[in-house]
Amino acid sequence: MTKFNGFKIVLTGDESLVSTYHHTYLGFASGLPMDVFPSILGNFIFPTLSDERGRMKTSQYGLCKIEAALLDNGFSRDDVAIVDPRKLDRAIGSETRVLGISVLDPLGINYGTALLRVALSLMGVETRLQSYMSWATMKIFNSDVVKRYRSRIKVVVGGQGVWEIVDSGLQQRLGIDCIVEGEGELIAPRIFRMVLDGMKIPRYVKGSPVPVDKIPVIRTPSRGIVEVTRGCGRGCLFCNPTLLMFRTIPIEKVVREVMVNVAGGERNITLHSEDFLRYGSTSLLPNEEKVVELLSRVMKAPGVDDVSIDFVTASTALVNPRLVKIISDMLGLSDRNMSIIQMGIESASPRIIKMIAPGKPKPFSYEEWPRIVEDAVALLNECGWWICATIIINLPQETVEDIEMNIKLLERLEHYNVFIFPLPFIPSGSLRKSKDMMKTHKDLNTRNLELIALSIYDAIKKIKSLSKHLVAKAPIGVKQFLGALLYVASAIGLKRIQRFALDNIATYFPRSATH
Ligand code: SF4
Repeated sequence: MTKFNGFKIVLTGDESLVSTYHHTYLGFASGLPMDVFPSILGNFIFPTLSDERGRMKTSQYGLCKIEAALLDNGFSRDDVAIVDPRKLDRAIGSETRVLGISVLDPLGINYGTALLRVALSLMGVETRLQSYMSWATMKIFNSDVVKRYRSRIKVVVGGQGVWEIVDSGLQQRLGIDCIVEGEGELIAPRIFRMVLDGMKIPRYVKGSPVPVDKIPVIRTPSRGIVEVTRGCGRGCLFCNPTLLMFRTIPIEKVVREVMVNVAGGERNITLHSEDFLRYGSTSLLPNEEKVVELLSRVMKAPGVDDVSIDFVTASTALVNPRLVKIISDMLGLSDRNMSIIQMGIESASPRIIKMIAPGKPKPFSYEEWPRIVEDAVALLNECGWWICATIIINLPQETVEDIEMNIKLLERLEHYNVFIFPLPFIPSGSLRKSKDMMKTHKDLNTRNLELIALSIYDAIKKIKSLSKHLVAKAPIGVKQFLGALLYVASAIGLKRIQRFALDNIATYFPRSATH
């Protein structure tokens, strides 16, 4: 038997990015700073599944797509592997030529991580250390095995978080040979081939949107996640520009990816899109027939136990409430069997929506947006959905009146099944390079802090009551422990936010405060 000297191409991501999370909703914990979320906890909350050489049995969807693109372009399965970041030393060797790393929030500065830091400070917990995800990403760059073979290997980095490295100018310091920004399936195989052929590779490349027929079918299971549409086209200014081009993935391809997951033991399927109800549509209006056909085909696929949907837009839901009811019935949802779906509210101020997300309310008008949001939440709740919603706050040009509208919306939605997370604005999307718009969460004004305190309190209260459900798909034994951990952490969080923020609201958050 020939000696194994490493895979030629090793694809990986940090351990919190490629984890199964025990099939729970605990992935958000990767944004917590390590002052409160030490590595020992990460080892338990973020398990990874791989064989003895480190090849992952299930992994992050983006890595699965790049692997598939390489295999479709003539690379062999013996040469390419998605590798467990905890087993890099088994997969990298003298034969390895490319290390491809997918990053989501490598510097720990994205929206969710910023919110977690603010929430902790409102609980009286000041943090100094980097987020778990940032630490775990740096661990890959600094690993002994990467250093040992560094002179033979080209490091190529892609994924949603590359903008952080580009904008901070840290590419050289991190030892990255090439950054791929945007969609990677067309460009990555070319770059990787250039490395294997001994050619010089560019330091930065932009991946253009991939036509539907060139989007590959994954080979490695993707934790049950299967993409059904790519892009969005509503064009919100803070959003990733690669989402501009909307594409529908044909049902046959979706079902093939479902079957790859089922074959790998992933029987709970999540259909990923930016707005599920627009599947098969060529406009902003849902194509009822296509949506129903897709859902029915996936639900009937042999071996599938459960199907969920990750994103919906309020305006698309309201434009065809009948379709929301149909799909909820198909999924068997009710108040005793509910599912969680994500929705971007962005702002309750029509003025802000007109400024940063004018396409979001369409075909309704931006003036109607607060009503659309409320009606969509009510409709989804009635059909058995819990909603995880986000608001972007601290935007440049935001006024006290805009913040007041967000606070009022939060109050109106308090009794609905919705968690609202206000995310401090980070310059992103087409607002990314606007220097005059640079603002960080450190500049949060008192009224926005009040909004965060109120919404986090409300969300934690609801999370506490749902703690069992949020970990229901974890294996027996682990489930009880995670449920108890979430419950206790929520109880402590509620007490602290009450004591350090809400009890002082009159002092620290005077309602007369001005922007
Ligand atoms: S609706 Fe959502 S996905 Fe589409 S552009 Fe706006 S924020 Fe991005």
